[in-house]
Amino acid sequence: MNYKIIFFVLFIVTIFACNKKVSDIVEEPAIIQVDPNEGKPKNIIFLIGDGMGLGQITAGMYANGNKTNLEKFPVIGLQKSHASNKLVTDSAAAATSFASGVKTYNGAIGVDSDTMPVPTILEIAEKRGYKSGLVASSTIVHATPACFYSHNKYRKNYEEIAMDLANAEVDFFVGGGNKFFERRTDEENLIRKLQDKGYDIPKYVDVDLQDVVLDYTQKFGYLTSDEDPLPQSLGRDYMITASSMAVDYLDKSSEDGNFFLMIEGSQIDWGGHSNDSKYIISEFIEFDKIIGNVLEFAKKDGETLVIVTADHETGGYAIQQESTMDSLVTAFTSNYHTAVMVPVFAYGPGSENFNGIYENTAIFDKMKKQLFVKNNRASN
Ligand code: MG
Ligand code: ZN
Repeated sequence: MNYKIIFFVLFIVTIFACNKKVSDIVEEPAIIQVDPNEGKPKNIIFLIGDGMGLGQITAGMYANGNKTNLEKFPVIGLQKSHASNKLVTDSAAAATSFASGVKTYNGAIGVDSDTMPVPTILEIAEKRGYKSGLVASSTIVHATPACFYSHNKYRKNYEEIAMDLANAEVDFFVGGGNKFFERRTDEENLIRKLQDKGYDIPKYVDVDLQDVVLDYTQKFGYLTSDEDPLPQSLGRDYMITASSMAVDYLDKSSEDGNFFLMIEGSQIDWGGHSNDSKYIISEFIEFDKIIGNVLEFAKKDGETLVIVTADHETGGYAIQQESTMDSLVTAFTSNYHTAVMVPVFAYGPGSENFNGIYENTAIFDKMKKQLFVKNNRASN
């Protein structure tokens, strides 16, 4: 036989074999590999420590008597935080990656590199009938929380982002930034708009969050301050209360315990920008308490996937040679973010998928798969 014919036959066979393989990969996402009712979470509590790299965690841990609730997590991964246009990301690009699974440019809120809106995990969850919540120690229109409900080409368009929240269907939110809702250049009153939509929105000047009695049949919003909330060390005290209220509200008001909640420790980052170790540590320790409370709920619930990560490291924060456990000597290499990989901690059903090293966009893919694959409705 002519070797050319043999070669041709082998070529055709190879093509068919390859085709089969490719179609196997395309048509068999992890959906089939998992028993539909086995090891799947009913809800996700996603905690983001803004600017919380390993230096921040380590300093916070030693300052907290050499312990952190992060030690209780069975699964630990690392994620690559880079943006589409810069190796060093900002909080907007990174949160868009978590929330929507795309790499995008610094400053982007819920839009891709071409400024096109991309659906977020929170929006997808809502469409499926899940309840949703957001709690932040920044304003609620700041980049990290905004990326879960807003689509804007630039993170500082705060009034437009506030309008997106008023038009969204987030069931529970707590954070600062009242002025973007009540004292706007377009003179709209978004508090009234939210109330007209059926939100209970107690005013921070009238009632403390801890004195609020939740009505589980109404949506809930609470703006904690006119502008940025204070640092914890200067008297901000709502985060632990707000996080526990959010979990309680979403658990009780949701059908079958289906909800998505994002809690952000926003100001760990601000401590990094100011190269202020004490600021970082006090913000971390508060965030760590919230993590502990969330873990306790998740243990009792048994169907909650808890994920803790950072959007990036801030400050190039290092613990120096002269340090002791009681007295840290720290240094910074930057007053901006850095590109080091940041850790991911996971607990609960589906947590094993968060092992390893992956892009920050994979966090969206993994959350989406864990929440929605059981119903075979993974696509949006
Ligand atoms: Mg943030
Ligand atoms: Zn920052």
